Amino acid sequence: MNQLLNQDLQQMDNFLQEIKDYSVLFLSSIDTLPVKAGTASFGPFDLPRKGLGAMHTLQQFRKRYEEHLTGNSGPRNWGFVTGGSTIPAIAGDWLTSVFDMNASDRDIPPFKIETETIAMLRQLFGLPDAFSGSFVTGATMANFSGLAIARQWLGEQLGVDVAQEGMGALSQAKIVSCVPHSSTVKSMAMLGFGRNALVKIPALHDRESIDINALEEYLKEHKQEPLIVVASAGTVNTVDFDDLQAIASLKEQYGFWLHVDAAFGAFAACVPAYRHLLNGWEAAASITIDAHKWLNVPYDAAMIFTRHLQLQLDTFKNAGAAYLGDPEKDFKYSNYTPENSRRLRALPAWFTLVAYGAEGYTAIVNNNIELARQLGALISSNDAFRLLAPVRLCVVCFTLNVADEEKQAAINTFLQALNDSGKVMLTPTVYHGVPAVRAALVNWRTTQHDLAIAWEDMQQQVAGATVA
Ligand SMILES: *Cc1c(COP(=O)(O)O)cnc(C)c1O
Repeated sequence: MNQLLNQDLQQMDNFLQEIKDYSVLFLSSIDTLPVKAGTASFGPFDLPRKGLGAMHTLQQFRKRYEEHLTGNSGPRNWGFVTGGSTIPAIAGDWLTSVFDMNASDRDIPPFKIETETIAMLRQLFGLPDAFSGSFVTGATMANFSGLAIARQWLGEQLGVDVAQEGMGALSQAKIVSCVPHSSTVKSMAMLGFGRNALVKIPALHDRESIDINALEEYLKEHKQEPLIVVASAGTVNTVDFDDLQAIASLKEQYGFWLHVDAAFGAFAACVPAYRHLLNGWEAAASITIDAHKWLNVPYDAAMIFTRHLQLQLDTFKNAGAAYLGDPEKDFKYSNYTPENSRRLRALPAWFTLVAYGAEGYTAIVNNNIELARQLGALISSNDAFRLLAPVRLCVVCFTLNVADEEKQAAINTFLQALNDSGKVMLTPTVYHGVPAVRAALVNWRTTQHDLAIAWEDMQQQVAGATVA
């Protein structure tokens, strides 16, 4: 054995203690770190001929990168939809690497963890047992997987096995949606539908929720064609929900594949007052839910839930590889998901779900919604800002109260100053043609105190951004 490998093996205890101390140091100062990364230029770093060994590598890492680390998973990263990581979730992630298992065979004992975690998640979200679920790397891959299974179903309607024969028969296939997440459109590109296969149905007035009458019109006109409908359970701008109940009724009548993108909106199920937003989603054929957002586990984890296990197998199976066994006989997750070798991605989720249970998640979700609502109320009461949509869940979408032609520039200045201050991070968007800003609160650590810090900074920076 190489001398450094051997040395680190002997001194594992020291080194891992050091890593643990460093982790605690980082995690306990996370809310004092700038939320957004500044820019920096780094010189080249050559592969060492003789390595440094573990301990010196940590020193080298700290010297080179420590000052650039950010509070990305801290309580005031309100950009995009960015969750944090609960402490047990971090532990689960660490142990996933410690065990370093290839989580494929469902029926081998340690991998029951994934089945068990999926079952707990079904309970958390109140999803029927008829949904099976698998972990993938993120909601993009969950949407990809849902649409891949849907593609197989479309083929089946036309008497073609798409996984076997290819896309020839589906060259005209359409995917119908109102405000799909960009990852749905990206998945269409990856799956061979092409981005142009998207049919956009208009939204209701001043909403991001599909106009059900317009959808029905479209379905009537295309009765003969098998279709995929992608519904939103939580849009990123305003967390608007499609009327899933109404879409479920249309599904009964018209028989399309319904995929619901509930990446973070699914967590409405954790709070009784918001659960109704998801009414009807149990009629979906496939559902996307992210884990590294509101479940607050480390990147990279999400779940694809589906009612069509056989189609999922037809889509993702490793066919004809003798050394992998018979995909029809032994249940291997690698025959149901894009990834073949897979880390035990369920373990961080298992840890945090067991640690906090249904009540813990109700508290996290409720707290974030409550704080988002308070921020919405502060924004409404301040003339420098204008709220663009009611705060439906965890996102506040607003603009600056300046003349239309000055809006974009004022927002750019405002966001630059705000994000450079490092106290809070918000991201830009455009809502119904209006340049806007979003604040998305899905982190377990966020408190009233964070709201106060962020609001004070927002007021200060808006003054600078809107002086004539
Ligand atoms: C974040 C998000 C996605 C994509 O998720 P990743 O985890 O970044 O791959 C898809 N849909 C919605 C609604 C999202 O919010």
